[in-house]
Amino acid sequence: MKSLGEEAKALIQKATDLKQLNDIRVAFLGKKGKLKNILKTLGKLSPEERKEIGQLANKIKEELEELLKSQETTLKQKALEEELRKEKIDITLPASWIDIGSSHPVISTLIGISEIFISMGFSVAEGPEVEKEEYNFDMLNIPKDHPARDMQDTFFLNNGDILRTHTSPVQVRTMLTRKPPIAIIAPGRVYRKDADPTHSPMFHQIEGLLVDENVTFRDLKGILKIFLESVFGKDVGIRFRPSYFPFTEPSAEVDISCTVCGGKGCRVCKGTGWLEILGCGMVDPNVFKAVNIDPDKYSGFAFGLGIERIAMLKYRITDIRLLFENNMRFNHQFKGIR
Ligand SMILES: [Zn+2]
Repeated sequence: MKSLGEEAKALIQKATDLKQLNDIRVAFLGKKGKLKNILKTLGKLSPEERKEIGQLANKIKEELEELLKSQETTLKQKALEEELRKEKIDITLPASWIDIGSSHPVISTLIGISEIFISMGFSVAEGPEVEKEEYNFDMLNIPKDHPARDMQDTFFLNNGDILRTHTSPVQVRTMLTRKPPIAIIAPGRVYRKDADPTHSPMFHQIEGLLVDENVTFRDLKGILKIFLESVFGKDVGIRFRPSYFPFTEPSAEVDISCTVCGGKGCRVCKGTGWLEILGCGMVDPNVFKAVNIDPDKYSGFAFGLGIERIAMLKYRITDIRLLFENNMRFNHQFKGIR
């Protein structure tokens, strides 16, 4: 019994965790433990011997229990110290950097352009990106056989709706629900089947529409001059070229003097000194008729431009795809720039 006690003591002192300690307790002091097994054999001994052995067994049991208890305390303390050591935080180390986001160059360009028109009394109108063909084409005087409707250019949905190819349907929706005077801009995403360094299948447009009595081409020129000088500076050259759009008559395309060479001619402007920047014109009477506005009483102008095109010229970005790749090293260069 004494050697059993010594064996148990040695094991307790070597135990490295609480589970081991419990296993030793069960093996030696449990109901089927080694100490109990010896006590079961006491029946063969004389009463004196039985008493002596019983006392010895109790003494060993007490000693072992005491040792188990103190070892348990030691192990618990060690576990706690280990945990504290692992979870130690060095508050003198530099904190991890939290990056603060910023507007994407397309969005800051869009906001900047919107603010110029808002300052001139225009309000912002919005429309859905999934659009009826009727609003996107028919009511804008774009006939059924017009090449712009071609499957090559337009994304058609299974139900016959389309992804709007321009922001112009917002003009239609506005004129159907509001009476003149109307002065709106409609910024938003548009979709065309197109992808190369200067075209993206999704891009942003901003559309403008002003309808009132006695609106003339001179008003259009004045508004666009203020706008272009606000974006590209007072010295920018502006020219109007006759053009054609189904929904305006007369129509014009507007060029500005090249922002890179200042008009001398370079690679960006293909040697012409001019950059095409937007399309515009006087609202076609057929469009007014489609939305129940009297073309004899009212006149108006509309214009539209690509936001990415403006952003590319403003920031001298040569590939439109850079604007959609969302490489943070690219995006971060525009932090705080408007
Ligand atoms: Zn140039």
